[in-house]
Amino acid sequence: MPDTFDTVIVGAGVAGLTAARLLHDAGRRVVVLEARDRVGGRTWTDRTAGFSVDRGASWIHGLTGNPLTELVEAFGMATAEFTVGSYQAGGRPIANYDEAQRELDAEATAAWLADADAVGDRLAAAADASEAGESYADVVERVLDELGWSGERAARARAFHRHRTEEQCGADNAEVDAHGLDEDAIDGDEVVFPGGYDVLATSLAQGLDVRLGRTVTSLTWSESGVRVSTATGAFDARQVVVTVPLGVLKAGAIDFDPALPEAVAGAIDRVGMGTFDKVFLQFPERFWQDGAYAIRQLGADGVPWHSWYDVSAVSGTPMLLTFAGGEWARRIEEMADEEIVASVLEGLRRLYGDAVPEPTGHWITRWGSDPFALGSYSYVARGATYDDHDVMATPVGGVLHLAGEATWGDCPATVNGALLSGHRAAERILGRAVPLRSLTE
Ligand SMILES: Cc1cc2nc3c(=O)[nH]c(=O)nc-3n(C[C@H](O)[C@H](O)[C@H](O)COP(=O)(O)OP(=O)(O)OC[C@H]3O[C@@H](n4cnc5c(N)ncnc54)[C@H](O)[C@@H]3O)c2cc1C
Repeated sequence: MPDTFDTVIVGAGVAGLTAARLLHDAGRRVVVLEARDRVGGRTWTDRTAGFSVDRGASWIHGLTGNPLTELVEAFGMATAEFTVGSYQAGGRPIANYDEAQRELDAEATAAWLADADAVGDRLAAAADASEAGESYADVVERVLDELGWSGERAARARAFHRHRTEEQCGADNAEVDAHGLDEDAIDGDEVVFPGGYDVLATSLAQGLDVRLGRTVTSLTWSESGVRVSTATGAFDARQVVVTVPLGVLKAGAIDFDPALPEAVAGAIDRVGMGTFDKVFLQFPERFWQDGAYAIRQLGADGVPWHSWYDVSAVSGTPMLLTFAGGEWARRIEEMADEEIVASVLEGLRRLYGDAVPEPTGHWITRWGSDPFALGSYSYVARGATYDDHDVMATPVGGVLHLAGEATWGDCPATVNGALLSGHRAAERILGRAVPLRSLTE
């Protein structure tokens, strides 16, 4: 006989654990089924070297008005200010390099930031004037035309906005909808976690019945309940909250019987799942400027590598982090570690020459090939809308709820979006409001 619960939660990432915790605290009998051998999902801290390397999420993107702010404080998670995590052009010191690999002086930096603002100021209006199905790349081109820019000036702005969607969406800007970065606003400082982001998930998981190594393969539902099946047994419940990443849903890795209704299935199809990977390089000594939050190659030379973030404060050792997004991320996932490291070093040596020593360590992620993620985070693909994210969470038959970052239209692709989606699912199941604060009580 299958085990019987009030609610089965599929996935022990932040969305699943938030829902589980709130339902458990409300007296419900809850089990969390997780395919991996750990909790946290796309928050994953690697401590094999004796310090924290966050292979998934690193940042809280803006502390103001963010539900994570209170939570991480209550869980005693130390933070370090690092307001450079959302592909900003300025705001904090960045060592920018021009097309001839010369570091920009104060005057050249001010001119570049003025150019970045000039484009940024026009983007929202250009997106509003766009036609259905136009891409972020289309509106950037329209703005450059309006400004009458050409040559290196236009190429630099174009490269910046290309890399912006690669980092923020894990997608190339022709794949992203014209409105795809409308919600990309940062309120307050950004912070990272020297002790690792996964403390959030392990704290949320305290006292819950989490079964690791349980890959859900099928889910049968009717208005009277659900049966959730894994290779090693089935679980019956009155409701289920499915928080597996959008990539896993798109791949059909869980067989829903009956199939998900068109409203939900259509949104799963329309919203995009991006690929965004991290490459950390540890060096025997620091060779870059003190005080710079990041190093950036501007313009067309910033392909394939353009930005290196100084994460030494997190690891306590000289360390740079760079990213690959979209098509380039999909390509590096096929490459050997050594080839990727050599390619990153080539980019750095163009700027710093022989001062760049051989790294003493590297960490490379491959989220697109990870069977329990099949991508890094969701984005508004061409023709989709932010509403599609929320439509995905439409309750099915009163028993089946989807949650997870991809279902939270206000701030998809974030840990706070995942948290809020889990909160919404729990409130829908309980049929009443539950303060998020109760997660820490
Ligand atoms: C490289 C990278 C960097 C990021 N950087 C940031 C950042 O700086 N700041 C930020 O806010 N966000 C960032 N994000 C996004 C953030 O990590 C996610 O939005 C968030 O962690 C998603 O939480 P979730 O609970 O929705 O999904 P997940 O954490 O993916 O949880 C879903 C769980 O379902 C499990 N699962 C999958 N298939 C099955 C199955 N068949 N059966 C059972 N279990 C299954 C998975 O193993 C996983 O544990 C980043 C993501 C990546 C990949």
